Amino acid sequence: MSVTQCANGQPITKSADGLNVPDRPIIPFIRGDLIGIDITPVMLKVVDAAVEKAYGGKRQIHWMKVYAGDEAIRHFHPEMTEEKLVAIPPDERQRYYLPDETVAAIRKYLVSIKGPLTTPVGGGIRSLNVALRILLDLYVCLRPVQWYGTPAPVKNPQDLDIVFFRENTEDVYAGIEWKAGTPEADKVIRWLSDEMGVGKRIRFTEMCGIGVKPISEQGSKRLVRAAIEYAVQNKRKSITLAHKGNIMKFTEGAFRDWGYEVAEEFPQLITEEEVAAEYGGQVPEGKILIKDRIADQFFQQMLLRPDEYDVVATMNLNGDYMSDAAAAQVGGLGVAPGANINYETGIGCFEPTHGTAPKYAGLDKVNPGSLILSAVAMLRYMGWSEAAEGIIAALRAAILSKHVTYDLARQMEDATEISCSAFGGRIIAAL
Ligand code: NAP
Repeated sequence: MSVTQCANGQPITKSADGLNVPDRPIIPFIRGDLIGIDITPVMLKVVDAAVEKAYGGKRQIHWMKVYAGDEAIRHFHPEMTEEKLVAIPPDERQRYYLPDETVAAIRKYLVSIKGPLTTPVGGGIRSLNVALRILLDLYVCLRPVQWYGTPAPVKNPQDLDIVFFRENTEDVYAGIEWKAGTPEADKVIRWLSDEMGVGKRIRFTEMCGIGVKPISEQGSKRLVRAAIEYAVQNKRKSITLAHKGNIMKFTEGAFRDWGYEVAEEFPQLITEEEVAAEYGGQVPEGKILIKDRIADQFFQQMLLRPDEYDVVATMNLNGDYMSDAAAAQVGGLGVAPGANINYETGIGCFEPTHGTAPKYAGLDKVNPGSLILSAVAMLRYMGWSEAAEGIIAALRAAILSKHVTYDLARQMEDATEISCSAFGGRIIAAL
């Protein structure tokens, strides 16, 4: 078995009304590779303490350890050396790193959290994170970005409070591409030229790599719908569709058009044109503004006037860049949480944006903040907002005390560097 059993907890379930979260939910967690060893135990302690503080024993998470990555190999196949693993065909090898039982547990228990995972050795194998997203069709990459008191490169980091809904399954990330000079790339170029009549648009046809950017109506609409529902439920002010539709009309432009079509299903929404024509430019009380922005302009305005943006729905590549740039504005990778969610099945796997930071593994040094904030997003998803708000306030207090991990200490004047676990202890003390 690649999971541990929890005798006393109950699974979270999903009905038409949303998630049904029992008071003692079973939540699978993956420790993660390398710095996962440092940050995951700290996150578990902080969350347990926050839940206890918020609900006084009425609620408690029953953590279920599930295995993936190096830990899965060491635990279940200690005889496997790197050489032996590379000799196994990629699809089969992937199951060593991501056992079927682990995927089944994440599917069954709906809400889970994971530390970062190393992409396994050898060619032909997908990143385990990408594999999970695809296996479970986790089409929303949710990235809430806000300021927690960390040192930041902009003057008013407190003005940024954006929740990104990044499409997770389409776009140039679909992995449909051919290497320059291969018969496949040349065949596609010939087809574009001979049959599609667009060969002349390719400036240099020799030694030219080719990639494909699929953006579908179904994929776009489910992403935008999830963003709108989030905005309605969380009483946010606006939703922005960020796209480069002026150039990529039938992919990014279509995303914008399909987004506005979905918006018509929600009476709570109002467009900029309606606000201008009927309300003198002021969004009426109780309405949520839906607007769209060209991606480059959005980038600039996110830097100059971040308070104009709230919930942002966008495609895969834009979302990757935008959410990292937004995280940099408020202090960087130490405070960059994330989640991969399918709102129809209810499956949500929460994880930090950063990777396994190999050089710091096992040193009890790195910032556990991103994983802890991913747990905050998880608690909110479960409707346990009191515990989530408690952690945010305590994290802010810990940062304000200037006793912080190395990454923050090096940017703060008069700060004292403390370990990963000591920083977790300070958060718990501030709850
Ligand atoms: P990374 O692990 O994110 O680390 C890059 C740098 O970011 C670190 O050297 C460190 O910078 C900083 N950093 C990351 N996490 C931090 C934390 N918790 N606290 C403070 N600083 C932190 O990126 P990488 O080195 O490119 O990737 C390493 C491995 O992670 C790869 O195998 C990659 O495939 C994997 N990865 C996994 C995930 C995932 O599981 N979702 C995501 C991304 C990458 P300084 O040294 O400057 O302090």
